[in-house]
Amino acid sequence: MNKTFSAVLLAALAVTAAAFAQNSKKVDDVALRNAAKNPGEWLTYGFTQGETRFSPLDQINASNVGRLGLAWSHDIGKGGGPQEDTPLVWNNTLYGITNWSVVFALDARTGEEKWHWDPEINRDAVRPKVCCGVVNRGLAIYQGLIIAPIIDGRLLALDATTGKPVWEGRVSYSQDGYTVTMAPRIAHGKVVVGVAGAEYPVRGYIQAFDALTGKPAWRFYTVPGDPSKPFENPALKKAAETWGPNFWKLGGGGSVWDGMAYDADANLLYVGTGNGGPWPEALRNSKGKDNLYVCSILAINPDTGELKWYYQNVPGDSWDFDSVQQLMLADVTIRGQQRKVLMQANKNGFYYVLDRVTGQFISGQPFVHVNWAKGLDEKTGRPFINDGAHYGEEDTVQVMPGPGGAHNWAPMSFNPAAGLVYIPTSTASSFNYAVDKEFEFHDGKMSNTGIRRGGPATAEGPAPPPPVATAPPLPVIGPDPIPGQRSVLVAYDPVTQRQRWAVPGGGSIGGGTVTTAGNLVFQVLPDGRLMAYTADKGEKLLEIQTGMRAGMSPPMTYMIDGKQYITILGGVGLVVGR
Ligand code: CA
Repeated sequence: MNKTFSAVLLAALAVTAAAFAQNSKKVDDVALRNAAKNPGEWLTYGFTQGETRFSPLDQINASNVGRLGLAWSHDIGKGGGPQEDTPLVWNNTLYGITNWSVVFALDARTGEEKWHWDPEINRDAVRPKVCCGVVNRGLAIYQGLIIAPIIDGRLLALDATTGKPVWEGRVSYSQDGYTVTMAPRIAHGKVVVGVAGAEYPVRGYIQAFDALTGKPAWRFYTVPGDPSKPFENPALKKAAETWGPNFWKLGGGGSVWDGMAYDADANLLYVGTGNGGPWPEALRNSKGKDNLYVCSILAINPDTGELKWYYQNVPGDSWDFDSVQQLMLADVTIRGQQRKVLMQANKNGFYYVLDRVTGQFISGQPFVHVNWAKGLDEKTGRPFINDGAHYGEEDTVQVMPGPGGAHNWAPMSFNPAAGLVYIPTSTASSFNYAVDKEFEFHDGKMSNTGIRRGGPATAEGPAPPPPVATAPPLPVIGPDPIPGQRSVLVAYDPVTQRQRWAVPGGGSIGGGTVTTAGNLVFQVLPDGRLMAYTADKGEKLLEIQTGMRAGMSPPMTYMIDGKQYITILGGVGLVVGR
């Protein structure tokens, strides 16, 4: 068991500056839509509903970032473990959430605590039901409410001023193998959140509530259920044709645990869906079938929960290629045409550009070494999957990237002036896949991957080694990595689908970024260092060892009383048994 004895610490750094007036208004649909015009605050997880993490602030810039120093720090308390939260800032207050879903409000100028609220999770009971890490990525704010995902399946709305509960919703039950780890998002008065857990036998879904009252609005399942019962909607009826018999008894997968974005003009909510469960298509009785809507990007009407379009990144997923990574909306010029695009740097190693209104595929290229596919169809975006990437019980095949992914949850950011997306990347991700001959499904048993693995040492003997690749190597496509570097920050041009520059540090898990109009990109490294580079060229301008570790949240920035701050969240103290 992981046991971490450490505190959670939040640090804010700033350069000094002159006075500047700022007015805070209530956070409604209009304020969220115009979040980029209010850069002093940070009102939604990805800064804007398009999740660009580009701040127009430029007080801290390429000429003075070297003078960045500690403004304040706040010790959030005992508990520790990986911190993945992006705090929100509204009304001079910074709101954050820890891995065990403790919500806190601080004076964003001094770090002084205003309130905190501990959901008092039954940690011993819940921990074994958490498939993939005790983490929380963030909060939503709406009309004076702080809306918090509680990892045990609750969604809680707290009064932003007092921290007292206003309503409580139920997303899922940890007893069923579900957890809630992602930041909820607001879309046209609804608050929407998904469930994690597709390494366990679960059926993925997203749940919408009325953001003011907490009244359940709709639920969209990402995979079909028992076909002897009525389908919940026509999209699931269509999806059921892409599955084999009896798959639903093992869950199906398609959990939703990270990427969402909202286009208020199109009134479309975009959602990324997770891997099929169990991992190998053979165990889902689905050889050669697409298994909609696993590993897909979905566009949903937030008023009704109706599916408007979908794009499936990985038909018939067998490699844990969750396609939940950050969904980023931007308007870019491609081949002389202004396009409203949705972009994703997928776990599977491809960078995708889609038309976000129609779902039309525009382009997709590998940004790391990839061997599961030969490339994507230029018209449809459907991958040409290497036959050899499919696997059975006998031969073990090495597939790139592996389940950790080329890019995972760590936030990327898009600087429109530089025309670059900054992707925390693992360049050497791979995994040796074979079906577990001993896999048997038991109702109530949690682990459901169906993959042969090495294992932990037991009283009976040493750890069995992970399987060695025995199948012929698959052909590799994609840019070569920096020699000796497995974890890099890649500055990627989404129009030309080419890497512009890359620097060491980060990786697919950890290494999140924010970029600013000061021609800067900030990155927090898992070892506690805060880095800053010029956004256009990648010249290193800053390296601060914060002394924090044990999992580091991405940096974010805000400005109050004429002073721009950068904040990061992490752990300090002794880390045991990780
Ligand atoms: Ca997964």
